[in-house]
Amino acid sequence: MKSFIYSLTLPELQEWMQQNGEKAFRAGQVFDWLYVKRVGSFAEMTNLSKALREKLDASFSMDALREITRQVSQDGTVKFLFSLHDGHAIETVIMRHNYGNSICVTTQVGCRIGCTFCASTLGGLKRNLEAGEIVAQVLTAQKALDPEGQRASHVVVMGIGEPFENYDALLSFLRIINDKKGLNIGQRHITVSTSGIVPYIYRFADEKMQVNLAISLHAPNAEIRTRLMPVNRRYPMDELMRACEYYIKTTGRRLTFEYGLFGGVNDQPGHAEELAELLDGMLCHVNLIPVNYVPERNYVRTARNDIFKFLRILQAKGINATIRREHGSDIAAACGQLRAQHAKQT
Ligand code: SF4
Repeated sequence: MKSFIYSLTLPELQEWMQQNGEKAFRAGQVFDWLYVKRVGSFAEMTNLSKALREKLDASFSMDALREITRQVSQDGTVKFLFSLHDGHAIETVIMRHNYGNSICVTTQVGCRIGCTFCASTLGGLKRNLEAGEIVAQVLTAQKALDPEGQRASHVVVMGIGEPFENYDALLSFLRIINDKKGLNIGQRHITVSTSGIVPYIYRFADEKMQVNLAISLHAPNAEIRTRLMPVNRRYPMDELMRACEYYIKTTGRRLTFEYGLFGGVNDQPGHAEELAELLDGMLCHVNLIPVNYVPERNYVRTARNDIFKFLRILQAKGINATIRREHGSDIAAACGQLRAQHAKQT
């Protein structure tokens, strides 16, 4: 099978050019065709020689994703279901914000982390995505935005999968979408979310990138976290918090903690106080997430008043916190729902 052209960083493509007897600057031209002019075939790259176009075509594929369905919400959220070359299905979402369009990408087919509130982990991990399959999600979303004259300005790596379990592809992906000759998405406009794979939090901190990091915390203490996220047994909360401190100290960047509110589990006033104590003095922001009902799981939604009560307790204790706005609640927008529906149908 040919590899995906979208998996190559600009330096890697420059190297390929040189190995194939071409000038390195040709790589920049290819990047321009792929990510700025956004053509769909090598044949359209008309400032390259016919011989080079044929060589590229013989070596690389541009068919990373095939669209199965596209749902558009009343609030403008777009949810894509894509099929990969081996028939697996993945999801990508465009979310509209007042500051721009944010693309939520998937990094793995399925997931082995086993969060007990998540439909995407039910079938386990099938495989890692290649960097090009992640890049192609952003590129396809950008192509969908082109007719509106809009830009994919932000990226959140929060779709299906644990990005730190596909680390090398993740880093290539970040470099490719950030490249000024390509999609040129600023590092500060990109957020990677992890379930808390401790060794990679240290490694990511040492990359010294300007990319934002979010930790799915979802609990104020180890007992509740283990119940919601069994990964807490492997990477206990005290180790996780030490890694978070290291990240903040090394990068000087504010960390985001994602906190999904599950009725009766982690959403009581006492939990808010415990959380405030845990995060006291940390350079961080808490993102409270009213969870969508997931048919396969039994967690119930926290009442709106209780969500605000939780927020006010955190804020009163000096913790920087907000409630995440919901997107596309009239379509199957919760992580994994569209894919799960598709799997049932097929
Ligand atoms: S929430 Fe994310 S990390 Fe947890 S099981 Fe689902 S996809 Fe995996």
